[in-house]
This record gives sequence, C-alpha cells and structure tokens, in this order.
Amino acid sequence: MITNRTFTMIKPDAVENGHIGGILEKISSAGFKIVAMKYTQLSTRDAEAFYAVHSERPFFGELVEFMTRGPIVAAILEKDNAVEDFRALIGATNPAEAAEGTIRKLFATSIGENAVHGSDSDENAAIEGAFHFSGREIF
Ligand code: ATP
Ligand code: MG
Repeated sequence: MITNRTFTMIKPDAVENGHIGGILEKISSAGFKIVAMKYTQLSTRDAEAFYAVHSERPFFGELVEFMTRGPIVAAILEKDNAVEDFRALIGATNPAEAAEGTIRKLFATSIGENAVHGSDSDENAAIEGAFHFSGREIF
C-alpha cells in the first residue's frame, strides 16, 4: 500500500466563503503534491457512507446536511509522512482550538463547519481516495 498519500476535501463552507485558492496555496507551500483533484458535490448517500463511522453521534444529521449543501474540492495529496503532516497543517477539529497558522485557524467557522477534511490513517486515506477517484484520475 502507498503510505505517502492522504485524502482531503475542501468543505462546502470554505468553498462558499471563497477560500479554495487560499487553502490550495497553504497545501502546496507546505510541500504537498496534488496527484488527483476534482470539484464535485456529495449526495446524501455519499456523505452518509463517507462519515459512517460517526453515524451514532448526535451531530451526524447536521454533518450530512452540511457536507451535501454545496460543492466541495476533493483531492489526493502526496508527501513523505502525508497523513500526519496534513493533520498538523489543518489543525484541531474545533478551529477555536487550532494552532496559529493552521488551515482551520485561518479559514474555518466552527467545529461543524471546519473548512477541510484530512484522513486520519494511511488505511483510511486509501479508502477515501478510492471513494472519489478511479485509477486513471490519479497521477
Ligand atoms: P475530518 O474527519 O472532517 O477531517 P476530524 O477528523 O478533525 O474531521 P472527526 O472527529 O472525524 O474530526 O469529525 C468529523 C467531522 O464531524 C468534523 O470535521 C466536523 O465537521 C464534524 N463534527 C465533529 N465533532 C462535531 C461536533 N461536536 N459538533 C458538530 N460537528 C462535529
Ligand atoms: Mg476524521
């Protein structure tokens, strides 16, 4: 398995607020190479499947509603230690607790509407990348 890749989404709040460019700039200046990217929108079924691990949480309905309300940017990123380094670049789930200079500190609105997704393991990075991209869309 390729372990130097992670998967990200620029979430609907960040797209609505005009932050696609700012977020891609942070990603590329941190040394991540984009190996796949698309502008798309999740269906309710997509969002429920993607976040199935949270299906019992009280915020699940709100999360699915949020993630489907507008377009997102989905991408696969490559860099040594990609999963861990990207989680550091995006910062804590709650932007109020995110470190200075992190993507969520700069661009997120709230714990629910937190601008970006980052995979939490190599295994999930591979699953999530395959959810959005076929082999011929990955470079
Ligand atoms: P992501 O998986 O999107 O990268 P994360 O790994 O930092 O975020 P998770 O615990 O996996 O955080 O939660 C997934 C998403 O669910 C969060 O990014 C956020 O959008 C939403 N979420 C998490 N906790 C809450 C909460 N307490 N209230 C509302 N929404 C929440
Ligand atoms: Mg997560």
